[in-house]
Amino acid sequence: MISIALDGPAGAGKSTVAKMAAKELGFIYVDTGALYRAVGIMFIRKGISTELNCDVEEILKEINVDIKFINGEQRVFLNGEDVSEVIRTPEASMMASAVSAKPPVRAFLLEMQRKLARENNVLMDGRDIGTVVLPNATVKMFVTATAEERANRRYKELTEKGMSVEYKDVYDDIVKRDYNDSHREIAPLKPAEDSIIFDTTGNTLEESVEKALKIIKERLA
Ligand code: C5P
Repeated sequence: MISIALDGPAGAGKSTVAKMAAKELGFIYVDTGALYRAVGIMFIRKGISTELNCDVEEILKEINVDIKFINGEQRVFLNGEDVSEVIRTPEASMMASAVSAKPPVRAFLLEMQRKLARENNVLMDGRDIGTVVLPNATVKMFVTATAEERANRRYKELTEKGMSVEYKDVYDDIVKRDYNDSHREIAPLKPAEDSIIFDTTGNTLEESVEKALKIIKERLA
């Protein structure tokens, strides 16, 4: 099986690049952030704040996370409920970042990700795919862009979906999430030693997809 690991910070364009490239290559696109977001939704529903003053392992026992591919598109289920849309709010982003720093949460989701890669050709997007989940991935790419550019893109995406958000809040959330994700002890956000660094600053999404595909195809050739 062929696996392509696409890691990088929030808003770097990973998911668009990954989705389009997977389609072109005929691979399945796995958005691993959605799994952490689904776990986070459970904590939000229990009224727990991002400080996570609770017994994380106990709560994990009540959670079943599953992903299914419907018409080629990934849907995420939390205890049987399709939460693919509700996981996209800024609140869900911050909670995903908080729960993802907890080792039991990472262990809980690890095997599921590896199994998908054992059984399919995958393009997997996340933070630790090249470093932890699939250290033997066929191609590893670390997609990044400046925080300002990433916040601009995220702001546009959220407002286009009809969410009412302030640019400053989107920017602050991105900076905070970058900090949390790269400073946690377990599986921090960082490029694998053998990652290709791909900076999308100044590129349109179409240009990013085109360049990424070129790099991936060269590596797979
Ligand atoms: O990719 P996305 O922004 O949806 O991820 C939400 C959060 O989940 C990230 O901020 C990060 O904390 C966490 N995450 C992670 N490891 C992954 C994917 C996401 O820790 N492989």
